[in-house]
Amino acid sequence: MSKLLLLILAFVALWWLAKGFRSKDSPPGRTPDAAAEQMVNCAHCGLYLPQSEAVCEGGRYYCCAEHRRLAG
Ligand SMILES: [Zn+2]
Repeated sequence: MSKLLLLILAFVALWWLAKGFRSKDSPPGRTPDAAAEQMVNCAHCGLYLPQSEAVCEGGRYYCCAEHRRLAG
């Protein structure tokens, strides 16, 4: 009977370890590139967009040239 108990304990321990490792590895969503990309707000409409896609003028960011024109 103790052998069975040991087997169950070993199985539970393995399952718990496997679960632990999986939850550790589970957040692969963020790539370093995405995290490095800075997000900025359009100074005119407040739209949130990556800095690389924003139009920059005078230290302010705009979502498009139209909003840069309207704000300026
Ligand atoms: Zn805008």
